[in-house]
Amino acid sequence: MALRVGVVGGGQLARMMIAPAVELGIDIRVLAEDEGMSAQLAATEVGDYRDLDTVRRFAADVDVVTFDHEHVPQDVLRALVAEGVAVHPGPDALRFAQDKLDMRARLAELGAPQPDWARVAGPDELQAFLDAHGGRGVVKTPRGGYDGKGVRVVSRADEAADWFAGLDEGDALLAEELVPFVRELAQQIARRPNGESVAYPVVETVQRDGVCAEVTAPAPGVDAAQAAEAERIGREIADGLGVTGMFAVELFQTADGRILVNELAMRPHNSGHWSQDGAVTGQFEQHLRAVADLPLGGAAPIAPWSVMVNVLGGPADAGMLDRVPAALAASPRAKVHTYGKAPRPGRKVGHVNVSGAELDAVRADARAAAAAFD
Ligand code: ADP
Repeated sequence: MALRVGVVGGGQLARMMIAPAVELGIDIRVLAEDEGMSAQLAATEVGDYRDLDTVRRFAADVDVVTFDHEHVPQDVLRALVAEGVAVHPGPDALRFAQDKLDMRARLAELGAPQPDWARVAGPDELQAFLDAHGGRGVVKTPRGGYDGKGVRVVSRADEAADWFAGLDEGDALLAEELVPFVRELAQQIARRPNGESVAYPVVETVQRDGVCAEVTAPAPGVDAAQAAEAERIGREIADGLGVTGMFAVELFQTADGRILVNELAMRPHNSGHWSQDGAVTGQFEQHLRAVADLPLGGAAPIAPWSVMVNVLGGPADAGMLDRVPAALAASPRAKVHTYGKAPRPGRKVGHVNVSGAELDAVRADARAAAAAFD
């Protein structure tokens, strides 16, 4: 009987698991939030992932439950595990991708390099942190943030007054030093339940307005020692937290060459989309293999360079699919991935991958194909 993998969440990450699931003969099922989502093709159920009964019913028909996002509540996850459901990544790991304060505290215990940070329960504590860090800092809501929502650079505590006002009793915000990074990197690890893992090459990511815009794999100009350091950080955290499936560590690189952990994702990640077409095993296939406890595939690049360019927004006056021919025409090596979403300013609606030998030409081709969707 086919292995049945249930994915909670019907976004583009679930969508991109469908093709490799078909190839491997995995029966993939998706619990989607709504009708007509990106992963509609495999959506066997529509319902609320915060509702235990809904998730329990979905989980009853699959061999392993995994995720398109990190928002399934801990009590739901823990109830499933207690009932014997295989959940990967499990709640003990996932909590460190769900709450940035928990993450910072745990990374400190693991000795991972990270920015100075503090738990700030009110404006006075935030102001004290800012005063101790040159008068500026980054304040973050610990939960529910994505794509830069829930992140603010501030120089006065009252700039976070609305967030403090919205906190529940006993909750707090995360304050971080404003890292003078020269660029952002990401390290991905795939890890099986038995601890076996493979590391992808460290990549460079470029964010625009807090949203991932472009990724270059491997990260240009990273020397062997830095690449090894990024891989070591990724593996130590993956092992330390017991992550299963695809794991991404977002990193800052500073002018003096230091690497600091920004945040963690326990699922396929935008920084790994290049691997669909540029690595021996794409991250969506790898995620399925890891959570289903199948042998992992190689993570080596199949070309010297791969560039992924996100399509942000999409055409203002047309549907995404209207522009696919132009994107394909932009370069015969452009691999176009659409998410089945309606265009909307700033929204991630697709991406383009190009792999090849010359970085400048690879990047130009990827940008040209993505620009066909403007
Ligand atoms: P999200 O969870 O919304 O992706 P992140 O914590 O990754 O939020 O922050 C989004 C972006 O904000 C980062 O990619 C980085 O560009 C910037 N950023 C976050 N934290 C810091 C920091 N401590 N110093 C400098 N820039 C930061």
